[in-house]
Amino acid sequence: MRFKLFYHLAATKKMEKKDYYILLYYCYTKIENPEEFREQHHELCLNLNLRGRIIVADEGLNGTVSGLKEDCEKYMKTVKSDARFSHTEFKIDEHDTHAFQKLHVRYKPEIVHSDLKNIDPSKRTGQYIEPKELKELMNREDVVLVDMRSKYEYELGKFKNAVTLDIENFRDMPSKVHELEKFKNKKIVTYCTGGIKCEKASAYLLEQGFENVYQLHGGIIKYGLEQGGENFEGKCYVFDNRVAVEVNTVNPKIISKCYVCNTTSDHMVNCANTVCNRHVPICESCMEKMEGCCSEDCKSAPTKREWNMDGYYPTNMNGYNPYKDAKRLNKKSKV
Ligand SMILES: [Zn+2]
Ligand SMILES: [Zn+2]
Repeated sequence: MRFKLFYHLAATKKMEKKDYYILLYYCYTKIENPEEFREQHHELCLNLNLRGRIIVADEGLNGTVSGLKEDCEKYMKTVKSDARFSHTEFKIDEHDTHAFQKLHVRYKPEIVHSDLKNIDPSKRTGQYIEPKELKELMNREDVVLVDMRSKYEYELGKFKNAVTLDIENFRDMPSKVHELEKFKNKKIVTYCTGGIKCEKASAYLLEQGFENVYQLHGGIIKYGLEQGGENFEGKCYVFDNRVAVEVNTVNPKIISKCYVCNTTSDHMVNCANTVCNRHVPICESCMEKMEGCCSEDCKSAPTKREWNMDGYYPTNMNGYNPYKDAKRLNKKSKV
């Protein structure tokens, strides 16, 4: 049902011809033989010409991929037809091309690196808040929104009045939870990009004695798709070639600042110095002055790339072969 709604919204949002989908999804579920599943899943993605990053763990599946619409439809159908993944929710965006250069399907101990392996969100987690409910809750005095993402993400955009944690990485979240003690008597609503981090973050808060813990189901992306992103200030950082996406079509606002001159700018670029490659907002005039670099040091570095106007440099594809790690188990058993 919900999948149909997303499809409808994604399809009617823009009138331009966009033949591709970008999918964002996760599913906490028990996978008995993750290595074997990884191999089958890798093959499925190769057959459907998908690109992107997928993580397989004993605790579930996490992915963001791009592909032609019909291939993505087949992919979603195949994933959901497996009883273990029937509750997977796909956030669907349209695009005019692939949003990734490569395909990686990897096995890891957790689907999001958190060092909270003992926490099983399929047993206990914060109560879901749907995007529509959030819109009603967010202005209430007894509700506090907590951003569970890293600093470089919320600096580009976050919900109005949201509380943030000074973390570079999600696994540092537990060390900052004491900062939320003062909100213990309020309703805490956690949010992240697509909802996956909140499954564990909200569960962790419950474990730490917080009682009124909720999580924004489907994260910022679903809120943007379903509710127009009202009161999300700035852009949402994403982990594909788009770098940052607009989610607020109701009352948009820019909150990020140019890394060089500190004026308001949400023009995200990669520093033209290959070694630095820093991902920061740099305004158009500084881009020109600095030849696409984030600092004078980078500008004079021998590793500086030729400045490319849109500040985006394709990944080095040297030696990349999508079939390389596709069949690891067979290879092992033959030895
Ligand atoms: Zn500037
Ligand atoms: Zn730099």
